[in-house]
Amino acid sequence: MMNIFLETYGCQMNVADSELVASILSRDGLFVVDNIDQADVIIFNTCSVRQHAENRVIGRINQELSRKRQNPKLLIGVIGCMAQRLGKEISQIIPAVDFVVGTDQYEFLPEIINKTLETHVFSYKTVSDNSQVYNELHPIHQGKFNAFVTIMRGCNNFCSYCIVPYTRGRERSRPVADIISEITRAGDKGFKDITLLGQNVNSYRNAEVNFAELLRRVNNIENISRIRFITSHPKDLSDEVIEVMAESDKVCEHLHLALQSGDDDILRRMNRGYTADHFRMIVGKLRKNIPDISITTDVIAGFPGENQAQFERTRQIMQELEFDYAFTYKYSPREGTVAATFPDQVSETERLVRLKELIKIQEKITLKKYQQQIGKIKEIYVENFSRKNKSEVSGKSRDYKITVFPGGEEAIGRFIRVRITDATGWTLRGESL
Ligand code: SF4
Repeated sequence: MMNIFLETYGCQMNVADSELVASILSRDGLFVVDNIDQADVIIFNTCSVRQHAENRVIGRINQELSRKRQNPKLLIGVIGCMAQRLGKEISQIIPAVDFVVGTDQYEFLPEIINKTLETHVFSYKTVSDNSQVYNELHPIHQGKFNAFVTIMRGCNNFCSYCIVPYTRGRERSRPVADIISEITRAGDKGFKDITLLGQNVNSYRNAEVNFAELLRRVNNIENISRIRFITSHPKDLSDEVIEVMAESDKVCEHLHLALQSGDDDILRRMNRGYTADHFRMIVGKLRKNIPDISITTDVIAGFPGENQAQFERTRQIMQELEFDYAFTYKYSPREGTVAATFPDQVSETERLVRLKELIKIQEKITLKKYQQQIGKIKEIYVENFSRKNKSEVSGKSRDYKITVFPGGEEAIGRFIRVRITDATGWTLRGESL
């Protein structure tokens, strides 16, 4: 029996891919273990979104080289976006790496591992395959209560700052029957909160089924209780999807919708395909049709060419739309993307100043939004004990707010009605009813 230790970096898509990889490996008698000391093979599932993410993995692999010196039979492999982007170049950066496998070639992992074990010669397989959806594989979900189910892979959008279309290829959607069967199986195993996953879920299409119709069908699956989805693109979020969200009892009242900038010229240079007013219109529709919806977003500070007036428009729209939470980033040039070649880069100091301003604005809004929850009754899916106090438990509301309340072991894994009594910037506190 061969033991594999899988270490995952980056976004939820990578976490889901690691679950898929665990399933592919187990079919060939290769088992994922939790303890790196038991590993015959260490695989790093990597992220390329920023240079920093790649540097971090390189640092981690270097840390493990002493282990390899002590045990020359130990293999080290690299998979994921960095494997796809750099291919065999990785062996020049870190000669101790034994194999590299790209995002569309995971089905070959057992073969490559076995071959490398025999020969101890570096091997790689990183050809992109824009038809690969990993049909009829059953990912081994790692969480206890929440399962992430990939419905599509790749992206066609080429936002000018993003490396994903170059590392994950073009959009392709998984067959509906395969998705339904994976979710039903996850529900049988006790995963009641399902997140549909893709780089741009709103453009899901398989034969006649679009994303709205897929949501309807998933909503009909009996043994699950909550449905979420990430990531949505504002240009593709249709009225039909908003209607289905409003009428489907299991689809949660939460949407993550990346704004990125409040200025139309910057949005154009980002190649986002919508204007600030279009974004406002969608938020208006969402709030009209789903009154309790919480909306979270991503915003970039200091994109190339962003002047003070344009930055001001981003500040204004954040104050106007009052997101429940915003993930704010300072722009970081990514080699291989169009925006990295723009000559008018904003200085690092200015990017940081703008980022701090956005964080300050959002902190106030988030606190206000959370305090507005006091007195409300929410259904909490309890996932664990509170990290700070073992006489309390913690879970998420339908609108994706972490909520802590007094409770014990018996509450974990259950849906409990809670009255909200207090709020900090990130967490709600309450009492069970
Ligand atoms: S939609 Fe844009 S930001 Fe999102 S993955 Fe595709 S290219 Fe990247």
